[in-house]
Amino acid sequence: MAKLTVKDLNVRGKRVLMRVDFNVPMEEKGGQMVINDDTRIRETLPTLELLINQGAKTILMAHLGRPKGQRDPSLSLRPVAKKLADLLGRPVVFADDCVGEKAEKTAEVLQPGDVLLLENVRYYNEDEANDPVFSEKLARFADIFINDAFGAAHRAHASTEGVARAISKRGGLCAAGLLMERELKFLGDELEKPAKPFVVILGGAKVSDKIKVIDRLIEKADALLIGGAMAYTFKLALGFKVGQSLVEADKTDVAKAALEKARARGVQLLLPTDNIVVTPVKTDKLNKKGKPIIEFTSPRPLSEPNIPDSEEGVDIGPSTSKTYADVIRGAKTILWNGPMGIFEDPRFAEGTFAVARAVAEATEKNGAKSIIGGGDSVKALNNSGLGKQVTFMSTGGGASLEFLEGKVLPGVAALADNG
Ligand code: AMP
Repeated sequence: MAKLTVKDLNVRGKRVLMRVDFNVPMEEKGGQMVINDDTRIRETLPTLELLINQGAKTILMAHLGRPKGQRDPSLSLRPVAKKLADLLGRPVVFADDCVGEKAEKTAEVLQPGDVLLLENVRYYNEDEANDPVFSEKLARFADIFINDAFGAAHRAHASTEGVARAISKRGGLCAAGLLMERELKFLGDELEKPAKPFVVILGGAKVSDKIKVIDRLIEKADALLIGGAMAYTFKLALGFKVGQSLVEADKTDVAKAALEKARARGVQLLLPTDNIVVTPVKTDKLNKKGKPIIEFTSPRPLSEPNIPDSEEGVDIGPSTSKTYADVIRGAKTILWNGPMGIFEDPRFAEGTFAVARAVAEATEKNGAKSIIGGGDSVKALNNSGLGKQVTFMSTGGGASLEFLEGKVLPGVAALADNG
């Protein structure tokens, strides 16, 4: 059932506690923490502007990094409050704790339209432990709870789930923010009965991470295009040689079951017919973990499906790119999760970029709805400059995958149903 959203509420003059995803990448520069990418902050602006315009007293809570219950100053949200104030063009009050009398007093004097950001909730282990006493402390801030942090909704933490339960127990309303609403619409409702043909593109490192998504989507999709390292586990299951490619040899039964299910349902499940391969060479340089850095030498396209023992598949080849692009261009609904190769290295990004171009083209010329399921595919689309040409890009990584698997996300389940 659809969830209650912030648009359904009368927030005027009320104290509204909102969970947001401000887990932004930061770096120390000249003794100060600097935000490297403010996308996550910007994404909360529509909900925040709505709350401000309607005269709510908004109290924001978020986590940053993994302070593991310690007050680690490098993981303070103070720089985020400053950035948010710049983006909103109005002051944002900062409380240097997320619970307790002082923070509560700061919240009490807020005026309609004011915004307060609480300090990192992960300064307390009680957040991840979903501690009921801590949840009650958070719940004291407000009578209305809004969750706009889809990326954290798959975890039952005090700031996502416990607080919602505590507020609804005493009759308060818990609703989705605008960003959360869009995530639920595109990753949920739109994929419930997708316009056909429905093409699913899956890539990335591991079959095991995405097998439940594959299993569920075979029941809805017309075609599944597989790329990335996970394709090599499928290839191994079919008896091909994969050389040094990244595989999960113990997951070939899972891959076989997916192939069989697709065949039985008449779903096209395509695997790469050619690859870009390299010869991996161990160097004497060590990485951060003290392991030798592997250099990828002698890249070449290989049109033969078997990969020689000394070589490794790092991207789909040009012929596969073309086949996949043709299928994608005919789609009316597209879901994409995971790159086709090691796209972080420009030499092996072409397969992923070819898919990105085809997805953008299908959206523009074929009127397809294109939904990007978060994580690295979003990065790849942004790198290729095509981010604005797709219908929707999810802000969740793990949360999107779990939602696509059909799991109930605790942070969503805790919100009130609409109707
Ligand atoms: P995931 O988080 O599962 O979507 O995986 C993304 C990662 O998969 C990226 O860091 C890619 O570099 C990596 N990846 C994609 N294709 C390959 C490949 N053929 N071999 C090794 N890693 C790959």
